[in-house]
Amino acid sequence: MKVVIAGGGIGGLAAALALHAHGHEVQVLEQAPELTEIGAGLQISPNGWRVLDALGVTEKIAETAFFPEAIEMRLGESGKQIFRLEMATTARKRWGAPYIQIHRADLHRALATVLEERFPGALRTGATFDIYAIEKNKVEVYLTDGETLIADLLVGADGLHSNVRAQMMGPDLPRYTGFMAWRALAPVEVLGDLVPPSTACVWVGQNQHAVTTRIHGGKTVNFVGMVERPEPAQEGWRIVGERADALADFEGWDPRLEAVLKTAEKVHCWALFDRAPLPQWHERHVVLLGDAAHPMLPSMAQGAVQALEDAWVLAASLGQHPILEESLSAYFAKRIGRASRVQSGSASNARMFHQASGLGKALFYGPMSIAARLAPWVLHRRQDWVYGYDPIKDMKAR
Ligand SMILES: Cc1cc2nc3c(=O)[nH]c(=O)nc-3n(C[C@H](O)[C@H](O)[C@H](O)COP(=O)(O)OP(=O)(O)OC[C@H]3O[C@@H](n4cnc5c(N)ncnc54)[C@H](O)[C@@H]3O)c2cc1C
Repeated sequence: MKVVIAGGGIGGLAAALALHAHGHEVQVLEQAPELTEIGAGLQISPNGWRVLDALGVTEKIAETAFFPEAIEMRLGESGKQIFRLEMATTARKRWGAPYIQIHRADLHRALATVLEERFPGALRTGATFDIYAIEKNKVEVYLTDGETLIADLLVGADGLHSNVRAQMMGPDLPRYTGFMAWRALAPVEVLGDLVPPSTACVWVGQNQHAVTTRIHGGKTVNFVGMVERPEPAQEGWRIVGERADALADFEGWDPRLEAVLKTAEKVHCWALFDRAPLPQWHERHVVLLGDAAHPMLPSMAQGAVQALEDAWVLAASLGQHPILEESLSAYFAKRIGRASRVQSGSASNARMFHQASGLGKALFYGPMSIAARLAPWVLHRRQDWVYGYDPIKDMKAR
């Protein structure tokens, strides 16, 4: 089939590689004039790694990925550790693949490089999708510059404010979650003694939390601080915020977090939106994936990972049924339950990390701390349904 993909983010590029691997011709339209270094740290769990491996991308990220030894939770103010769970060996043994931290730009570049090697010219930058029209057995894809492409399938991988989704489902606004994220990057060597631990560390506190990870092969600390705000700020990877406001939000928290915010060249902010699960992701020759279909809070670190899973499952679903729309229905049926569960899990994680009362803290953190010491498998087991999923095996088995 000839497939046009609107949006060349993580989901769109992964879909291009997966569809190409399944024998389809792909054209990715990315509105940005060029691929730039936007974004920050992403955690990619074993279920996402498996897709990257199947797409042939893992070798390209060997140097830029960081493989944390553990995940941990600490009280934001005192820095006291609530629990620490070994991750490096567990991820490989229990879930069959590594757990990594990587700059979004490094992952994006790796996907784009592999796509260009396999299918030169498949990614077109400076190309903005406008609208589509379904005509007989094809879809006409109109670009804002007046060009029209004819395809068998249009994939809407155009993110939170997806035009493809708006045309398919009707225009509506994403839902402001009441959370805003501060983002900052700081070099490990400059932080010296004030460097946060080289784990995936969640720092919890009253009505806010932060996560520190490592990217650039371990050389840079990535900070995401989620705070509650009644009114939405702007949304996007490039919005620069006031450093003083970020410092005020985390005043009195562990000095290592303050050091990251003070050292970072810029402090970015991002109002966080999501959507209720959609009743469908497809119509005849058009289908959605990634944030266009199921935007979510970052509190399970699964948005990009779910887009990777979507990409593989979509590509493997095509051709399973004689009629395209039946294959798209099979893709939706396979994905909707899981993506919706991750969406709601992300929202409830955010609430759990923001315990305000002493009782809430004791009830939530106490058992976790005990379980991590006495029976860590109890906590690992809670992640099995997310990290243990293998979309490649799942689709082969059908
Ligand atoms: C602070 C923060 C931390 C996060 N941390 C993690 C994490 O640790 N792990 C994880 O898995 N996820 C994480 N996420 C979520 C993750 O970043 C997103 O879920 C993921 O990037 C979605 O990918 P996508 O390809 O669907 O959409 P996007 O990345 O939004 O890509 C959409 C692309 O489409 C292009 N586009 C839009 N409209 C058009 C158009 N009309 N024509 C052509 N192109 C168009 C855009 O320019 C963009 O390149 C985090 C998100 C945030 C905000």
